[in-house]
Amino acid sequence: MSSSESFVIPAWPITRVPVVGHSADFPVHRIYCVGRNYEDHAKEMGFTGREPPFFFMKPADAALVVNTGVTASLPYPSLTRNFHYEIELVVAIGKGGKNIAAADAQQHIYGYAVGLDMTRRDLQGEMKKQGRPWCIGKGFDFSAPIAPITPAAQAGDVEHAEIYLQVNGQDRQRGNVSQLIWNIAETIEQLSAAWELQPGDLIYTGTPAGVGPVVVGDLMQGGIAGLTPLQLRVV
Ligand code: MN
Repeated sequence: MSSSESFVIPAWPITRVPVVGHSADFPVHRIYCVGRNYEDHAKEMGFTGREPPFFFMKPADAALVVNTGVTASLPYPSLTRNFHYEIELVVAIGKGGKNIAAADAQQHIYGYAVGLDMTRRDLQGEMKKQGRPWCIGKGFDFSAPIAPITPAAQAGDVEHAEIYLQVNGQDRQRGNVSQLIWNIAETIEQLSAAWELQPGDLIYTGTPAGVGPVVVGDLMQGGIAGLTPLQLRVV
């Protein structure tokens, strides 16, 4: 009996992200995201920038792989009239654990990638106003574009790397990962206190200031120094 006969409906494939310098891929388990983790972005969203970290999730299959040197197509999602980009450093977890101390966080990291936390801002805002979950604003199909993952040892000093996003060749976001309110190790400490991290988890660590809308036809180019950049067109 083949394995395809072991399920009562067709099973779906594991979401996989290419890894720089490897023929094998990184399997995606969960996608965690950190909210308002750069002070200038927290302020542009109307907050002080001095709050404990908080988290939300996207489905694993919301990851949209953007291969090296390729312009990926990002479908404009349904139900929104305010589709926002958020350029983010993504941390790929290689070794799981719970209650991981910040001092031990590095050994749980497989690598890093450039990602976008795409957001239906109007729907997120409506949910915020009503005190309802953000899922419809954050966890929709194709909401987590990601470039190939660079293993940590080859990624350079991502903690102090420039991060940027351009739309149609113009700068919209430009900051530095060193501006994170909760750095990578602190984020892993806090996140692993709430969930047991697993190999294959991705953490979208938050976005610097300058978030804004894109429309069909717009070209987004984003990057972080030392990592593979990504390029997408909204279709
Ligand atoms: Mn975000």
